[in-house]
Formats: sequence, C-alpha cells, structure tokens
Amino acid sequence: MNTSLATDYLVIGAGATAMAFVDTMLDESDAHVLMVDRHAQPGGHWNDTYAFVRLHQPSAFYGVNSRALGSGRKDDSEWGGGLYELASGAEIVSYFDQLMQQRFLPSGRVHYLPMHSYEGDRSERHSITSLLTGDSSTVQVRKKVVDATIAQTAVPSTHPPRYRVGPGVCCIPLNDLVNVAHPYARYVVVGGGKTGIDACLWLLHNGVAPATLQWIIPNDCWFLDRANIQPGQENLLRTIGSLANQFEAIGAADSLPDLMLRLERAGELLRLDPSVMPSAFRAATITQAELNALRRIENVVRLGRVCAIEADRIALERGSIAAVSNALYVDCSASAVPFIPHGSLKAFDGNRVNVLTVSSYQLLFSAALIAYVECHLDDQVQMNQLCGFVPPPHSPQDWLNMWAAYLDNQRQWKHHAGLSSWLARCHLHLLPTVMQALQEGDPAKLAVLNRFAQARKQALDNLPRLLQAVADSTQSS
Ligand SMILES: Cc1cc2nc3c(=O)[nH]c(=O)nc-3n(C[C@H](O)[C@H](O)[C@H](O)COP(=O)(O)OP(=O)(O)OC[C@H]3O[C@@H](n4cnc5c(N)ncnc54)[C@H](O)[C@@H]3O)c2cc1C
Repeated sequence: MNTSLATDYLVIGAGATAMAFVDTMLDESDAHVLMVDRHAQPGGHWNDTYAFVRLHQPSAFYGVNSRALGSGRKDDSEWGGGLYELASGAEIVSYFDQLMQQRFLPSGRVHYLPMHSYEGDRSERHSITSLLTGDSSTVQVRKKVVDATIAQTAVPSTHPPRYRVGPGVCCIPLNDLVNVAHPYARYVVVGGGKTGIDACLWLLHNGVAPATLQWIIPNDCWFLDRANIQPGQENLLRTIGSLANQFEAIGAADSLPDLMLRLERAGELLRLDPSVMPSAFRAATITQAELNALRRIENVVRLGRVCAIEADRIALERGSIAAVSNALYVDCSASAVPFIPHGSLKAFDGNRVNVLTVSSYQLLFSAALIAYVECHLDDQVQMNQLCGFVPPPHSPQDWLNMWAAYLDNQRQWKHHAGLSSWLARCHLHLLPTVMQALQEGDPAKLAVLNRFAQARKQALDNLPRLLQAVADSTQSS
C-alpha cells in the first residue's frame, strides 16, 4: 500500500544524536518532526550492544539537553575509581524510550515510525518502508531532511569480522560472551579499542585468570584518564586543570610525538605499555585501576590486524602464531567510530541538515547545538561557520585536528549572543558549568581559570606552526 505523509522535518534515525537534535527542536521551535528508524526502539546502536557495555564518559555529559541521564551517583565498582557513574546500555535505551514516550510523543509534534527504513536521496525524494509489512509511504518535507545516521556506528554484533574464520574455530561477537556455557582453555580477544578493553576487563572481573587470556592488539591506543573528565564541584580544579594541561602541551609542542609525550607527562594520556608508542587515539577513557588490571595480561600479540584464524594458526599482517585448541575468539574488531574525511561534509547543506560532531568528543551536545542553530539562524554560511565539522579522532594527528577545529568553532560561538546564552544554559556543555562555579570567587579556582586562559592563548598561537610541522612530517614519511 502506498500512502503519503507530510512533515516540517524528516529525521532519518532515532539514535542518540537524532534524539538530542529533536529534543532541542521541541524547545526552540514549533516545528513538527517525523522520525524514522529501522530499530524497534529509540537509541540506535545501544539496542545492539553487549550486555555489559557502559558509557565511557560520565552520564552527566551524555543524553539530551532537557533531561539529565543518571542520578549523579559515584561508581564504587572494583575498577571504577569512585568516579561519577557511567550509564549501562540498558539504562541508555530505557532513558531514550522514556524520552520518546513521556516527552516527544505527548508533545503532539513528533511522529515516530520505528521498524521503518528510509530510502531516498536525502534531498528531494523521500520514501519510507515498513520492515514488517513492506508498505511504503512517500514523505513531503516542508522544511528540511535531517540525516542523523552519519555516525554509522559499527558494533561487533552487526558487523561480522573482516578476517577469515576457519572450520572448527569458535569465534563470537562480544555480545555472545555472556552466553558462554562451558570454560575454554584460552580466551582470545581480538581488538585493542574500547570494546576489546571491555571484553578483557569483563573476563578478568568474572574470574578468568590473566594467563588464560590472549589479547590481539592491532594498534595500541592512547587513552584519556577518566578522572580528568568529571562533573561535580569537587572536580572543578582538576577538570579545568586538565584542559589547561592539554592547551599547554599544544602551546609548547613542536612535533606530534613531542605533543603526545607532553600529554602523557601531564597525566592526560595513558597507554597500556610504556615501551610501545601508540598509533591510534579513539577518545576511549580508562581509569588507572582498569589500566593496572589490563597490564596483568601478559600474552599480548602486536603483529597487526588478524587476517585469518585457523584451528592451529592465527595469521596476522606481520606474522603468524600458533593457536591452541579449545580457544574462544572474541571479536572486538568493529570500529565504533566511523572515518569521515575532514571537510567532506557540512552541517547545513541546502534542504538537508547533517548531524555532525561540532565539539571535541561530544556527539549529543553537537546534535543539540546544530538544532539550536537550525531553529534560530537563516544564513547558511553563518550557520556552517558556527557548526564546523570536528572529525571524530582515530589517530594522534586527529587529536590535534580535533582541537584545532573545536577551538575554531568556540571562537565563532562567542560572537553570537543567542547561541552564547543557550550554551551557558546547556548542561551537556562542560565549560559553562565550570565557569558558573568559578564565579564564587575562590582564589584557587580563579588561579586555575587564569592558567587555563593563558594556556588557551598559547595553544591558539602555536597551533598553525604545529599543524604545519605535523603535515610536513606526514608528507616526508
Ligand atoms: C560501545 C560504544 C560505546 C560508546 N560510548 C560512548 C560514550 O561514552 N560517549 C559518547 O559520546 N559516545 C559513545 N559512543 C559513540 C556513540 O556511537 C554515540 O554516542 C551515539 O550513540 C551515536 O548515535 P547516532 O544516533 O549518531 O548513531 P546510531 O546509534 O548508529 O543511530 C543511527 C540510527 O539510524 C538508523 N538508520 C540508519 N540508516 C537508516 C535508514 N536508511 N532508515 C532508517 N533508519 C536508519 C539506525 O537504525 C540507527 O538506529 C560509543 C559507541 C560504542 C559503539
């Protein structure tokens, strides 16, 4: 059956970024929105994730602007370090479901079609099809189409491994780890990113001896120390101090390795093995206690990506190693963060809004900010200046590019009075919360703020030179 629907904004996706975008649209406009998603519930990839997943940044910095996620508890788990809570996947899905049921739908301005697939050119032609009945509808969009699928989040349960798995080899996605029904002689975790870390920690936490674990790390990662990224008044000095440390490192460094080592010395970046220089940075956070637990795993394989796993051998890019029988391979090789080439996308592109990252790390804050700009500005050039793309990082070089792009955006935000005042009220935005607390006049807080302001200036001064040095060394290598 073919029907026709009409809406102001057609939002493709009902994942976290779509929810953050629509939440701000509801507050800042009177527009009607149609949200379409293949999943049965809001929350996107959080519906597909493993049972023991948690955010790796405090819940306070995640979610939508109108409603806090979590209750400000501290994490007193074995390796949580007493830091602020990290929502579980189940909590996140439930939070978005409540948001849909209690705020979006009762507003009368959101029409939500789960289990529907969007097909169209994301510009003029729009059609949606029910995954259950096959019925299609065309959609007439009065204002804009909003693409909230750009993250293309890849998780092991939806993205099979790219390496060959030979007959008789037991290789499971991370999601199936909780279904293991008998012990294995060895647990081999494939992947050195956040999901690989989660798999190792979960196995250790559940009593698997470090000697029974083998960890295949294609590329070592730099990690952020989670203790430096905390809400709460008691953490103000450390949080601003951490930003100052990062800016001081940018301000003083003359090459990428120099920058990374400065960040490590300042306690901003951590690595698994101090003798291995990481080549990846994916913005994963870790506690010192988690790092210590991971360092108990001695059987770490650093021979590049896995090419094939056979019953008796594992072939990797830079060699092969013997496999043991009765091993369980846990695939954590999907890249959660997509690679989007810098400069390839604009947030505002004619009658389309691309929900991109416009700040360092914070996708949901970015989505809310883009919605604010869509609601209050008309000039597309100015809108794109306020919402320059900050590419999600994959490498140390991306860490630097990310800060360069984010600092550029921040400079633009200051010049727009409406946006500045919205930012000051936006609880997803770290800095205003910090600044408000600083107005108490405490000398220690004012001193750290002063240091932060000076470091930021030094960073801005040195950034062009450092970016050029990094570009030159990339070209010559
Ligand atoms: C394990 C893990 C942990 C993470 N932890 C954090 C964290 O701590 N902090 C943080 O900021 N980020 C974290 N992230 C990043 C995370 O991806 C984002 O926070 C966010 O959830 C991305 O949401 P999204 O809506 O952009 O994408 P998705 O969750 O991928 O949602 C996109 C939605 O679009 C739908 N869709 C796509 N194409 C179509 C179509 N043609 N028709 C209909 N529907 C379509 C999909 O079904 C999906 O539901 C984590 C990611 C992973 C994998």
